[in-house]
Amino acid sequence: MSRLVVVSNRLPLGDNPSGGLVVALQDALRSSGGLWVGFAGEPVESPEDELAWHPGAAFQRASFDLTQEDYEAYYLGYSNSVLWPLCHGRVDLMRILPGHVEGYRRVNERIAKLLVPHLRPDDRIWVQDYHLFALAFELRKLGVECPIGHFLHIPFPGPADCAALPNPGELFDWLSHYDLLGFQAGRDLSNFTESARQLAEIEPLHDHRLLLQGRVLRADVYPIGIDTAAFIEEARTAPDEDRMRSLTGAQMMIGVDRLDYSKGIPHRFRAFQLLMENNSDLHEKISFLQIAPPTREAVEAYQDIREETEHLAGRINGQFATVNWTPIRFIHRPIPRNVLAGLYRQARIGLVTPLADGMNLVAKEYVAAQDVSDPGVLILSRFAGAAETMGDALIINPHDPWELAEAIARAMRMTANERRRRHSALLRDVVEHDVGWWSATYLDALAAA
Ligand code: UDP
Repeated sequence: MSRLVVVSNRLPLGDNPSGGLVVALQDALRSSGGLWVGFAGEPVESPEDELAWHPGAAFQRASFDLTQEDYEAYYLGYSNSVLWPLCHGRVDLMRILPGHVEGYRRVNERIAKLLVPHLRPDDRIWVQDYHLFALAFELRKLGVECPIGHFLHIPFPGPADCAALPNPGELFDWLSHYDLLGFQAGRDLSNFTESARQLAEIEPLHDHRLLLQGRVLRADVYPIGIDTAAFIEEARTAPDEDRMRSLTGAQMMIGVDRLDYSKGIPHRFRAFQLLMENNSDLHEKISFLQIAPPTREAVEAYQDIREETEHLAGRINGQFATVNWTPIRFIHRPIPRNVLAGLYRQARIGLVTPLADGMNLVAKEYVAAQDVSDPGVLILSRFAGAAETMGDALIINPHDPWELAEAIARAMRMTANERRRRHSALLRDVVEHDVGWWSATYLDALAAA
């Protein structure tokens, strides 16, 4: 079997790296004697001209380092201040600064140069996510001919947003050097073809193949999943000391998101406020736990959201709390996954309301964690990739606080029968389409491409 080489922005380090992507790729990497290449994590003053090797995993791991200047231009700049907001429908938050596209090109070129001496002719290369759109283009320049696939974990923008890039044509040139482009959802594949039609040259062929800038490639949808069996077990055996106790017998509603502007956390708080204003029978009956660890605080667009969120939570609590009941609890720290699993299981409602999201794994984790005999209700934004396969959730428009408030009230009053019926359909999807299914399906397509 040919060797699998995975390249991502972050290299999974630590002796026992966990996380869905690592679990998904571990078997394929181990059985093919595979290699994972990524960034070590912290910028350095004088980067090495060689990959650094990290033993201790079931596959080979090698990292590249970056200067502060490259980190700022490639990671904080073009990746997270241009591509991330653009792909999440927030063109207004884009910050295009001189030198950032160049930094992105330079880092992709550097990774290609560091990687090439370690490649074999029959390798398969799988590039992850938006930080590395230009990698295949750079590898091809250096003569690499083996199959190279890309998977985009975040949404692909439509033509109106794509046109706001400083270099829309170049994006499609970069992508045309892959053999396989994988997207999370049908919406992303259609945005990609429509954007390419307007901003580049594309001609659809048959069987998910197309001609992009004169090169033949395949593009298709591969919705990512979680390590479902392991998560079910984690939730069943979660530590008891993390049980939430309520003095008023309130049911828990849980939200878990990085504190990112794409996650719709303030919108959710405003909907909760409406719910409280219009349903006094639910006072002391529902308690909202929002876990939102900090993320990318060095990027300007992230600096206001914490203040807005804390302000809203404080105002709602000031308005409605009683001596025995706090309506919203807001935790601004990361919580370990095994603790999350237990919290999901206790929560009557899982609230997942992003304004835009590639997939949203929290939605799948919440479903996997439920007790099948008395499951909770998933409320899911139609703008999460997950909504395409999780239609048995209460699907809502997160921009409409009235609709969201009504969905929460409905979930609170839902009969056990309806909860079980919806949950069993959702669980079937989460079990069948787990992360192992995702990577196997993608890698089969890459082998055929
Ligand atoms: N997560 C975690 N601890 C936290 C918050 C989140 O372990 O305090 C995990 C969560 O369980 C999920 C992931 O982070 O596996 C978030 O993935 P998702 O696709 O929902 O959103 P992303 O952060 O990738 O945009």
